[in-house]
Amino acid sequence: MEFDTITAISTPMGEGAIAIVRLSGDEAFAIADRIYRGPQGKRLIDATSHTIHYGHLVQPKTGDTVEEVMISIMRGPKTFTREDVVEINCHGGIVSVNRVLQLVLSQGARLAEPGEFTKRAFLNGRIDLSQAEAVMDLIRAKTDKAMNMALGQMEGRLSQLIRKLRQEILETLAQVEVNIDYPEYDDVEEMTHRMFLEKANLVKIELEKLLRTSQQGKILRDGLSTVIVGRPNVGKSSLLNSLVQENKAIVTDIPGTTRDVIEEYVNVRGVPLRLLDTAGIRETEDIVERIGVERSRAVLKDADLILLVLNYSDDLTKEDEKLFEAVSGMDVIVIVNKTDLPRKINLNRVEELTGEHRLVTTSLLEDQGVDELEEAIASLFFAGSLETGDLTYVSNSRHIALLGQALQSIEDAIEAIEAGTPVDLVQIDFTKAWELLGEIIGDSVHEGLINQLFSQFCLGK
Ligand code: GDP
Ligand code: ZN
Repeated sequence: MEFDTITAISTPMGEGAIAIVRLSGDEAFAIADRIYRGPQGKRLIDATSHTIHYGHLVQPKTGDTVEEVMISIMRGPKTFTREDVVEINCHGGIVSVNRVLQLVLSQGARLAEPGEFTKRAFLNGRIDLSQAEAVMDLIRAKTDKAMNMALGQMEGRLSQLIRKLRQEILETLAQVEVNIDYPEYDDVEEMTHRMFLEKANLVKIELEKLLRTSQQGKILRDGLSTVIVGRPNVGKSSLLNSLVQENKAIVTDIPGTTRDVIEEYVNVRGVPLRLLDTAGIRETEDIVERIGVERSRAVLKDADLILLVLNYSDDLTKEDEKLFEAVSGMDVIVIVNKTDLPRKINLNRVEELTGEHRLVTTSLLEDQGVDELEEAIASLFFAGSLETGDLTYVSNSRHIALLGQALQSIEDAIEAIEAGTPVDLVQIDFTKAWELLGEIIGDSVHEGLINQLFSQFCLGK
């Protein structure tokens, strides 16, 4: 089959700090290579499949830098579309994403029509939509747990659940048709309303349940955003290094020193962490000192986990106390480091400040306490409902968006029913929910609702 190279922004606009511009087709690698400048003259065209590369995008003509990016290179057929695929991860703002998109278009890619990537996945691979997307998650999966989640989805757990919900909706719609066409009762309208309401509430509960798991799914895929804070010299960089050394670093191609914040992906006992050493910004300055409690709170507020490091061999300082203040209300593990040196810190006061949080003592120099710290991280993370393992996790942004829209339609339906709106209007909301759910698994695009109704129910007996 012959297809040109298409491109599109594949993350919802304005959501999150990272956006992805995706390319698919024969020219995907060549286009990316022309606009990429990597460290040490690295070329994407030579890159191994399924690797991630840090670098800058430039205007090939002028050499002007357009964006700082991470680029995923995936050679077909083991890709979402089964074609060569490039994913450019860039900053999430509308302006910068569009700049990247324009650059890619200027190099000969064509803007994809809505759903065109999916269409190619269909045409090239004959898998249902949610399965195709699970392949993507599999590629991105950063730990075994994320891998299991992706596999579970591939096996169709999500598809299965969605099919069941759609079937429920469809049966209700069919029954309503019967009621309307063959009224056996005088109060068809009222009975139909009652039936609709019952089913709508049922579907609503299921959709809400699925959406609740979506946040956890995202964390499993993207990593728990973990920020290491502490005064200069307490051992933040040592902590980062020790966690990276003891655990397999997941992304190895980020030259940390060229970034503002040092960032590493590690897998700590099944918990994917995206570790950020804030002090990487400027070793001699203290983040709270520099930008104040309020602003550092704002910086820290996106973190899922804070590792607050203190110095065992030094007195507690005002900065330390300000740090505690800045992270109050967040998930924090307090680490008292340098226990190999004589104690100067007031441990009672530390415990007081730590409160309900976990407290761990370490000597990173002598490799003491790191196990305990890892244990603390894992138990904190798995203390939630995550450990059950048999939930269906939804981690795909498109799925999350569609589930949200379907829920909205169902809520609209409930509202309409309660307001006594005519049945045919309620039908519209129901049908919409059915279609939205269908988009998750790739049905409903080609098959009309009526066809399905007729193929599954014998209406005209
Ligand atoms: P940061 O400024 O918070 O990132 O601290 P660093 O990780 O750069 O460490 C500052 C200094 O403390 C370095 O010389 C480390 O080798 C040393 N250091 C880190 N952890 C320990 C420890 O547990 N014991 C001792 N004695 N020194 C440590
Ligand atoms: Zn440091």
